[in-house]
Amino acid sequence: LPRQPASPPLLALDIGGTLIKLVYTASCGGGAGGGAELRFTKFERRRLQECFEFLRAKGLVRCNGSTTGSSKENMTLKATGGGAYKFADDFREKLGVCLDKLDEMDSVVSGANFLLQNIPGAAFTHMNGKRSSVDISPNNLFPYLLVNIGSGVSILKVTGNRKFERVTGTHIGGGTMFGLAKLLTGCKSYDEFLQLSQKGDNFVLDLIVKDICGELVCQKQGLSTSTLASSFGKVITSKKKLIDYRPEDLASTLLSAFTYNIAQISFLVASLLGLRRVFFGGSYIRGHKSTMENISYAIDFWSQSQMQAVFLRHEGYLGALGALMSYGD
Ligand code: ADP
Repeated sequence: LPRQPASPPLLALDIGGTLIKLVYTASCGGGAGGGAELRFTKFERRRLQECFEFLRAKGLVRCNGSTTGSSKENMTLKATGGGAYKFADDFREKLGVCLDKLDEMDSVVSGANFLLQNIPGAAFTHMNGKRSSVDISPNNLFPYLLVNIGSGVSILKVTGNRKFERVTGTHIGGGTMFGLAKLLTGCKSYDEFLQLSQKGDNFVLDLIVKDICGELVCQKQGLSTSTLASSFGKVITSKKKLIDYRPEDLASTLLSAFTYNIAQISFLVASLLGLRRVFFGGSYIRGHKSTMENISYAIDFWSQSQMQAVFLRHEGYLGALGALMSYGD
């Protein structure tokens, strides 16, 4: 970002159901050629106080120091996500800042369009172990489907800058998966859950076509033996109790069940709308390779290679980025 080195930092927030995402500018380079770079950080929503401390420590909020200060002096920050409404009073009372609340979907779309139109290499595919950047020219960007996987999932058809429609969504999203993961595996953090899933084997719990038909019938009928028939389906016929399953296998099964399901819904919506390119965002993805591989595989499988899953750098910060961009409005 070419900016005057002396200009104060810009900061925007996206306060979602699970996470608070912050995007802010910081000076870099120095001297006459100095500019500003974007920084990204997040906090769990239940750790709002830590977020406040961070903002104070980094000098990102200009506190007027006294609770008796006139509200006219209060700094205003761009903020989106449902929490921008819910926690507006906390920001005013504890931090002395006002939140200028922005529509969440507007912000997510602005953030995605900003990345796609301004940051080379921001979009990439991840398939068969290979990450490849996708060249997006302004002429061929629109229309596209944007699937934002957060606590819940929002699916938007984007036709231009600020032109979009929230087509549908599903409540069975990242919050559902992580909630079940906490109950079933005892994991304490999302990263721990992802690490567990890497070491697990989903076929311990998942029922595949071969388990139902037998290998011979599958071969005769040309069915793929390893196709998932029912996630967690093997548990039904097993004598094992929850304690007998390894947390790693449970985590792997959860991740594949939810990821394939969200990818399949995305494929169906894209087909209905005649869209061939689907961008995925939201913190669910968290730059995690096998999550992206599974989404890509499912989109490729269901579309018979007619559609492509494309991922975005900083995928969890689309809303916060869009909110930051709105300072220029
Ligand atoms: P929201 O805006 O609803 O908070 P996000 O896009 O921030 O949604 O995504 C939240 C989801 O991201 C969680 O449900 C979980 O699947 C995943 N996630 C990624 N990192 C974390 C984390 N550090 N803590 C909790 N969930 C995380």
